Parts: sequence; structure tokens; C-alpha cells
Amino acid sequence: MDTVQAAAPAPAIQDAARPGGDRAAAIEAVRIRLGQLGDTGDGARQRAEHLVDLATRYGSHPFTTLEEARHLLGVDRPAFAALLGLFHRVPELSTAVQRGPQGKYWTNTILPLERTGALDAAVHGRPAFPYSVGLYPGPTCMFRCHFCVRVTGARYETSALKAGNAMFASVIDEVPETQPSTVYFSGGLEPLTNPGLGELAARGGRRGLDMTLYTNAYALTDRTLERQPGLWSLHAIRTSLYGLSDEEYEATTTKPRAFGRVRENLGAYMERRAEHGAPTRLGLNYIILPGRADRLMDLVDFVAGLDERSPGRPLDFVTVREDYSGRDDGRLAADERARLRDALRDFTAYARERTPSLHIDLGYALESLRSGVDARLPRITPAAMRGSAHPQIAVQVDLLGDVYLYRESGFPGLAGADRYIAGRVTPDRSLHDVVRAFVESNPHIEPRPGDEFFLDGFDQVVTARLNQMEQDVADGWGAYRGLLGADAPA
Ligand code: SF4
Repeated sequence: MDTVQAAAPAPAIQDAARPGGDRAAAIEAVRIRLGQLGDTGDGARQRAEHLVDLATRYGSHPFTTLEEARHLLGVDRPAFAALLGLFHRVPELSTAVQRGPQGKYWTNTILPLERTGALDAAVHGRPAFPYSVGLYPGPTCMFRCHFCVRVTGARYETSALKAGNAMFASVIDEVPETQPSTVYFSGGLEPLTNPGLGELAARGGRRGLDMTLYTNAYALTDRTLERQPGLWSLHAIRTSLYGLSDEEYEATTTKPRAFGRVRENLGAYMERRAEHGAPTRLGLNYIILPGRADRLMDLVDFVAGLDERSPGRPLDFVTVREDYSGRDDGRLAADERARLRDALRDFTAYARERTPSLHIDLGYALESLRSGVDARLPRITPAAMRGSAHPQIAVQVDLLGDVYLYRESGFPGLAGADRYIAGRVTPDRSLHDVVRAFVESNPHIEPRPGDEFFLDGFDQVVTARLNQMEQDVADGWGAYRGLLGADAPA
């Protein structure tokens, strides 16, 4: 495909979808591009306008269908087809979409998935080894968080550990070499309650897999590290932080004095890590509870305190998310939104000064909010759930080998979750076999009210993207489905 770039002012186009971007300059730059492509005829200026508007739309509303976009521009199908062809010949327009206020959806999730072909496999019902495999090895959890969907008292029998760990080992062994970042350990319940976790991590390390552990770190003690040295083979450990004091922790997890213990575990881990020269990255995930945005400054102080335990090897990253539970439409009131935006700006400025090497990831919604845009997460309703889910993209495997289709469904005894089991990995049946059999059975799981809570944020984004692509294909726009990532015709 011929494309044009370089000669005209590219930044004007690339910044077209940014809040405060110069629309007139972008249109003029695109018009020059079109001229270089030989499009100087009637309406070239209007086409330039439409192309900038298209980039702006997808930069702020990534899940727009092409028919919606066409109606917004008010053009007929032949004119729109011509615009889509031109869009793909001016690469800075794609950059503009990715730099838009919702650009993280594109850069963090959609485009990496596009590069693997996993989205097309899901849309067209072709089996594929999942892009993401969560291993849920924990038989239980020491916390009882108020927002956790876990069923009180439900756990896996200790007698399931031996066979379960052999099954996890077989899954680690079958991951294609081309997918080193596919597997992670999470829950479900707390992974560190499985005493075989270190061996599984070491097995993945020997295979060259970059495995991340999601944990509450309550059991990340010196003793655990001595007994399970394989934990040093992990690529990263992401600790869910449930507060910044014992009182806050107890209010969330019901466990007394847990904060002090987690803080001590993290500090000691950082000291050991420096001694070992271990490459494992260590980070925190902090959820801002409603009305508690002011605690972000204390989070920076907490990180700085940890760094003092290991000055040469500070904490690597913090991910910050907002608790949307309890808000029916997933939206914040205007005054709360303004407070949160200010708090995020103060937080990132303070962190830059006090913990300069700390990488901060605000996620889709908070990043949009910080950049001054009204954040809106895709909210998948039961009616929008896909009967075939998306096992080519993500599955989760529990201690019994059951392959769950959504990230929040892999809890023992969770009502209705068993309908989202694709099959079971056994000594005679690999994960690949389970996914293939499920996809080839042409499945349709009829969603029920409440099933949407089985989807986490990633599942929601993937579902929204797949629905968008499928609608574009149904509307006759298959060659351009989803706008970016499509193998568009020349
Ligand atoms: S949210 Fe995590 S740490 Fe809290 S009870 Fe559930 S599994 Fe345990």
C-alpha cells in the first residue's frame, strides 16, 4: 500500500485528537498529504476534514462502529469507503487515534491483541492458543475483602494441590515459545497459599516465560522465599494494597494488623531482591475508594519509605485504579470527578519529585480523567455479552483444571460461574484441546442478569472490541473492521 509521510507537518496530524489539538492545522496538513497522494480534486478539503474528524472520534470513542462513524460524518457508503482507503494511506492519522484521550485502549490492549491475530480468531470462530492464560493456584485466601465475590468459606481441598500443580506444570509446558508473556498467576484466591507456587514459577522461568504474580503479599515472607526460591524466577510481582494503615486494611480485608505485616514483607523482599540481584520487578496496585483520593499523597510517602529499605533498587511500579463498584452507570459525580482529577495531578507531580524512578500506570479511565476528559468505561450488559466468550484471547485455569472464560468467574462455589467453564484440563486433555473443543462446538452461553460481573475491565474491553468488529463485518465493512488493526486493502 502506498503511504505518504514526512514532507508535510506530521505533528499537526498526530496531535489532532488530543484535547486542545489544533484542528485547523491538522486539516491543512492532511490536505497537503492528500495532494501528495494525487487527491486534489473537488472536495479534497472536506475529505481532509472528515479524516481528522474520524481520527478524533476514534481517539475519544474507540468502540465506535464504522456505520456510526459514517452517520456522524454524514456521507454515503462510496464516499466513506474512499475515506477509509485514504485513512490507511496517511499513517499519522493512526498515530492521532492512539494519542487521543482514550488512546490507552488502543496502545495497551487493542493493538497488541491485533498483532497476534487473536481478535480475528475470536470473531471468525477459529481456535487458537489463548493470548492470556491466568493460572489460579490458590486453594484459599487469608483475607475476606468486602468487595470480593469469593464465597465465604469456599476453598479447594488441600488434597487437590498435588494433581493441580502437575496440571499447572503441563499448561506451562504447552505455552507456545512465541508467547512468553502469556501466563500469569492470580486468583481466584491467593496464589501464595499454594506451597508449590515457587516450583511452578521456576518451571516457567526455565522456559523463558515472563510470568507475573498477583498477590496480596501477606504470605510473601522471608520464610516463603527460603522455602520457595523459584519465586525469584518471576518476571514481576504485583501486590494489591488494601489501605495505608492497619485500620484501613482491617476495614477492607477484616484481617487485623495486616498492613504492618504487608509493609514489612515488601520492605524485606526489596532488601533480599537487592542482595540476590534478582531481576523480578515489584509493584503495587492501589484502588482509590470513593472519597479517598487524598490518600494518594500518602501512597507516595509509603513507596518512598519502602525505597529507603533498598536505596539502590527502588520499587518499580504502581498501578492505580478507581473503585467503580456501587455506581450503577460507572460514572462519577461532577464534583467528585474534579476532586479526583486534581488529586491525580498532585499525586503524579509529587511522585515525580519524591520517587522519580517509579513508573505510574493510571489505567484507561483515570488516565483520561487526568488529561481532562470525561472518562467512561465500556460497560458490558448481559445483552452485550458474547455467547462464545473469547477463549482465543483469555482463559483462567483453577486448581481443578477448570478453564474459566472470564477473569472474575474463577472462584469455587460462585453461583452461576460453572456455566462459564469451557472444559477441564486433565492428564489426557491439554489446555489447547479444551479451547479447540469449546470453540468447535459453536458455543452459545445464554447470559443471565448479573453475569456481567464475571467480566473484569480487560474482559469488558475485549468484549466491546469484538462486538464492534463483528458489527462492522455484518455491515459490510470487513476490510476496515475496527478501523485500526485491519489489514486494509491498498
Ligand atoms: S480480593 Fe483477593 S485478597 Fe481479598 S479476599 Fe478476595 S481473593 Fe482474598
